[in-house]
Amino acid sequence: MACFFCSDEYKNYYQFITELEECIVLLNNEQTYEGRCALVTKKHATELFELDPQVLSTYMAEVAQVARAVKAIFKADKINYYICGDIDQHLHMHIVPKHKGGSEWGQAFLMSGREVFLSEEKYSRLVEKIRAALSTT
Ligand SMILES: [Zn+2]
Repeated sequence: MACFFCSDEYKNYYQFITELEECIVLLNNEQTYEGRCALVTKKHATELFELDPQVLSTYMAEVAQVARAVKAIFKADKINYYICGDIDQHLHMHIVPKHKGGSEWGQAFLMSGREVFLSEEKYSRLVEKIRAALSTT
C-alpha cells in the first residue's frame, strides 16, 4: 500500500499551507481545534532518529516556528505536539492549539472521532492567516 503522505491521499484530509525547508505545512480538515495543523517531513521516514541530524534540527526549528505562529493567531494557552504514526507512519507532527477550559484541556488530545469540518472559504481564510504569519517569521 502506498504511503499516505507520499501519495496524494492526504489531500483528502488536509489543506496545503506552505512548504518549508524540511517539511510541508498542512491544515487538518478536522478543526475541533481551530488552527490545528501538521508538519510532514519532505523525505519519507518513520522515526525522528532516522533523520539526518541537520534535517532533524531544521525540522524541529520549523515545528517551533509554526507552533509560535499558531499560538499567536489562535490565542492558544498551550500548543500540544503529537507524533503518533501507528497507521500513517510517515513522520508528521500535529500542532494542536488548546485553550484553558476548552476541549480536553489537561488531557491527551484524542485523534479520532471528531467531526468539525469547515467551508472551503473558511479553510482558505485559515490557510492564508497561517501562511502570512509564517512568511514574516
Ligand atoms: Zn511517505
